[in-house]
Amino acid sequence: MLPKAIILTADEPNDTDLRFAKLSRFLGVDFQLYNLKPTKPGIQQLARTTAESNSCFALTGNALTKLFCNDNHIQDLKSILFRNGNSILLYDLSPGNKLNSSIQQLTDSAVLSIGSFRNDKYTYQISKNQKPITKDFTGMAFGPINSLVDFRLYLNPQSRHGETLISIDNSPLFHMINRNSSTLFIVATKGLLNIDKEVLEIPPARQLFSRLLPHIMFLKTIFKNACWHTNQTTAALIIDDPTLKTNYGYLNYRTLLDAMNTHNFTSSIAFIPWNFKRTNKTVAKLFRNNQHKFSLCVHGCDHTRAEFAETDVSKLNNKIKLATDRMNAHRRMTGISYSKAMVFPQGIFTKTAMKALKANNYSAAINSTPYPNNPSPSLLKISDFLEPAIMSHANFPLLIRRYPKDLIDFVFDAFIGRPIFIVEHHSDFRRGYGDLIRIVNEINSISSEIKWTTIDEIIKNLYLQKSDKNGSIYCRLFTNAVVIKNSFGQERIYEIFKSENRNVEIEQIYVNKQIWPYYMNNDILHLTIKIPPQSSVNIQILYKEPKFNSNVRTSLYELIRVATRRYLSDIRANYICKSRRLLSLIERTSRFISSKLQ
Ligand SMILES: [Zn+2]
Repeated sequence: MLPKAIILTADEPNDTDLRFAKLSRFLGVDFQLYNLKPTKPGIQQLARTTAESNSCFALTGNALTKLFCNDNHIQDLKSILFRNGNSILLYDLSPGNKLNSSIQQLTDSAVLSIGSFRNDKYTYQISKNQKPITKDFTGMAFGPINSLVDFRLYLNPQSRHGETLISIDNSPLFHMINRNSSTLFIVATKGLLNIDKEVLEIPPARQLFSRLLPHIMFLKTIFKNACWHTNQTTAALIIDDPTLKTNYGYLNYRTLLDAMNTHNFTSSIAFIPWNFKRTNKTVAKLFRNNQHKFSLCVHGCDHTRAEFAETDVSKLNNKIKLATDRMNAHRRMTGISYSKAMVFPQGIFTKTAMKALKANNYSAAINSTPYPNNPSPSLLKISDFLEPAIMSHANFPLLIRRYPKDLIDFVFDAFIGRPIFIVEHHSDFRRGYGDLIRIVNEINSISSEIKWTTIDEIIKNLYLQKSDKNGSIYCRLFTNAVVIKNSFGQERIYEIFKSENRNVEIEQIYVNKQIWPYYMNNDILHLTIKIPPQSSVNIQILYKEPKFNSNVRTSLYELIRVATRRYLSDIRANYICKSRRLLSLIERTSRFISSKLQ
């Protein structure tokens, strides 16, 4: 196992060097910023420092040009870089004569120069042959490229020691060259994304791709299990709102089950707790008999407009408590279990709502937008979107779900170890299940290892792990209930960590239902568990639940308003949506009324 990434610089580290250092740390890889003087003593010192084990070097085009400025030292430097077993990443490149000459020297003229593209109308083509490196992106083709930062390598046609990993217009963008049992990787993009950059919307995978993913592919290939990784990519379809009746609008559960069985996927219903007494017995039986295919999560409480846009803690606690009581009553009446994961009605929520869910021992929120309504604007970093869950809102995990618009975003989810959640409504099945089945088949074609399962199983698998050279395993948790599996043939020590800002008091931690000691250090919770070979442990963090304020009474007016809204939305789903003429008449009438009321 390689000890660290050596980031070679020829001066004080610049922004790009520091961005690479940040990315390495983020992935769990140790690094050293090494300011190398291109002099004989400087190069001898580097030779001594890296003599004992295989090394991983990363350097920018700018560093390469400076380090190769003196012809007398180039061979010595190359012999250190290309020592057996070493790996080198050359990145942050743009066309230029000086760099062309340095790259020719570095690669013994296997790469002749760097060229640009005239416009963005090209696609990235990812090799079909290097799945261990390109992973879930293997064989994909998508665009547009970004001709301001994406360049092409012109290769020497006589050179036979290379393999292209990503190409544009049949020219390499990401290329590897093997020499003397060492491997040089070259990424022909300008710069490297700053993972700490704040963004106001979910960054599309296509835009991140060339200035981040090849670098991550390199680090994951070289450092393997020493990088944070998940054991399993999980997936589920989430359908919002339906009651559990034979039909809800265009949704028919039996037809959906047939589609799930034929095309290998699972569905979770974002169930409105207010509907807890309305489940049809036959549908309940269908769910009970197919628990590995159907699951339930919680969708609001009454599902009134923006009910989790609330900032009053007491009202939020009461709402969540009522939602939980209703879901528990539904479970008693129907035998259908549910996951304590909240899908916010209309996707609207506040940070206070996130904290209230944590205090009520919910496991996660699942939402299409990761941005709360309050406080606003709330910025997230690119790095927030490179983790299985976003923890920036009240230290409670938010899992992103997506409408099935762009397969590449789902590929990105799988690549970084985030669960794949597709969101649909009954109206999306107006023309049958063909569109859904198409996206499911595309997702299943990314990897045969994607496991479609229930929301509970997905959340129990929600952790990252990495190994150190002594065989210890480090795990990072995101949620309050996980199952950690030791798949090794020997007992292993698991060091478990979770970011924990103590905004809610911990009552107790249980491992396999036994109270377990834990330590807090700088807002990081830490516990140690020995796990026997081929076995699992169940970790449960129990937070101190808030007192239920029984003085909050719901007015009769409010009860009627909620009931009216729920019945009207059923009527809309079951009758109005199915009649285009009726729907269009109602939409026109309501537009007319609202224009008169303004
Ligand atoms: Zn809804």
